[in-house]
Amino acid sequence: MLELNNPALLRTQSYINGQWIDADSGNTFDVTDPATGKVVASVANLGAEETRRAIEAANAAWPAWAATPVKERAKLLRRWYNLIIDNTEDLAKILTAEQGKPLSESRTEIVYGANYIEWFAEEAKRAYGDVIAPPANDRRIVVIKQPVGVTCSITPWNFPNAMIARKVAPALAAGCPFIAKPAHETPLSALALAVLAEEAGIPSGIFNIVAGESAKDIGIEMTRNPLVRKFTFTGSTGVGKQLQAQCAETMKKTSMELGGNAPFIVFDDADLDEAVKGAIICKYRNAGQTCVCANRIFVQAGVYEAFAEKFIQAVNKLTMGNGFTDGTDIGPMITVKAVQKVESLVEDALQKGAKTLVAGGPASLGEQFYAPMVLGDANEKMQLFKEEIFGPVAPLFKFSTEEDVIRMANDTEFGLASYFYSRDIGRICRVSEALEYGMVGVNEGIISNEMAPFGGVKASGQGREGSKYGIEDYLEIKYLCLGGI
Ligand code: ADP
Repeated sequence: MLELNNPALLRTQSYINGQWIDADSGNTFDVTDPATGKVVASVANLGAEETRRAIEAANAAWPAWAATPVKERAKLLRRWYNLIIDNTEDLAKILTAEQGKPLSESRTEIVYGANYIEWFAEEAKRAYGDVIAPPANDRRIVVIKQPVGVTCSITPWNFPNAMIARKVAPALAAGCPFIAKPAHETPLSALALAVLAEEAGIPSGIFNIVAGESAKDIGIEMTRNPLVRKFTFTGSTGVGKQLQAQCAETMKKTSMELGGNAPFIVFDDADLDEAVKGAIICKYRNAGQTCVCANRIFVQAGVYEAFAEKFIQAVNKLTMGNGFTDGTDIGPMITVKAVQKVESLVEDALQKGAKTLVAGGPASLGEQFYAPMVLGDANEKMQLFKEEIFGPVAPLFKFSTEEDVIRMANDTEFGLASYFYSRDIGRICRVSEALEYGMVGVNEGIISNEMAPFGGVKASGQGREGSKYGIEDYLEIKYLCLGGI
């Protein structure tokens, strides 16, 4: 059983309108440890009806929250941030228990998520309006920004804490009440966040958690209920498109953080050791289960062999194991289904001519473990060229010219993160501008932080999380025409 300094952080009820509640049906669902398959907790299984009540409670709480002076909202967020940081170790343990990632990565995620709360506590005060020159002297044009209103979110299991923190922080800062539906695989991290929000003094109805197994039913209520003004989603492009369509009926404002297919390009003039370091962290953290993980590693012909050799050496040093074991770099994958999807992409690649450079694959540790793999001679016909692998498999593609690699990198419906390594300033400018992606890492394999705008183009979605731009997704612009002057 999980040993926590503060056992109260492990909650199994949902949190609506300041109350901890069971499902109307009394039903629960099990949350399991991906490393062992053991049940970590049985959690109240809420559905559409409880979601509707949460939305109504949030709507009732909205005016008072919007009218709370921004300095006061900022103080509450800052208090919440402090509590999260004080409880990092326990929150990280809960995260590893339900998600599987190494404890060190869980600690990093807790701090990363908390940083968004700290950042937006500060940004809350900077939602400036405008005064604009009028067409005639008898009037004035004033622009103010106001909270969009009741906001709902659906988030995935790969970052059970941070995906929620990135959304709730700007929402609350802007003056919007918030209802989160965490992934059913990982609701415990979300519920623990609510425990600390309550302790920080965030008022009832302002941060609500609806945990339930039927994402579809909860999603229908969140996207169709007219009281909801804003819907924010992180997940696959297919589900995102469906939810966006559901939101269209009531014309909700939406933010969509969807799938990626990140190119990671190593040019002849790159610092190869740095490129290997960047590729390892970019590809293998969270066992390759992030939407910004390197999906296709393109290496220029002149350095292909040298890069492959160094990369193979580095991959062979990675240790796979239970996330709670010291020294683990790669934990289990989230489900058996996720392992099977990776296996089928690898099988397809091998049939189409990929060469095994590091064998990896299914492991004796358990059915959800998949050892890091490296494939050479990857080509554009392989499914993994088009699809997100979402697992610890690195395919290496050889390319000859800058022009070729830009064409291949952009040959995807996705446009989230991209990376390249080069020391040539001209090339850095050309390639950065040519990549059709929302984010470009230049000589960096990890680029996300609360001060920068995270988001994608094309089928990777719309909206930005973090930075000064992130709060705009939760604000409406109002134009005041002051006449008769
Ligand atoms: P992933 O492959 O990362 O799990 P999904 O898009 O399937 O991506 O899931 C992301 C989140 O969306 C999860 O919380 C999941 O429960 C939820 N989800 C999946 N299908 C639906 C749906 N039809 N309606 C609402 N939410 C959904």
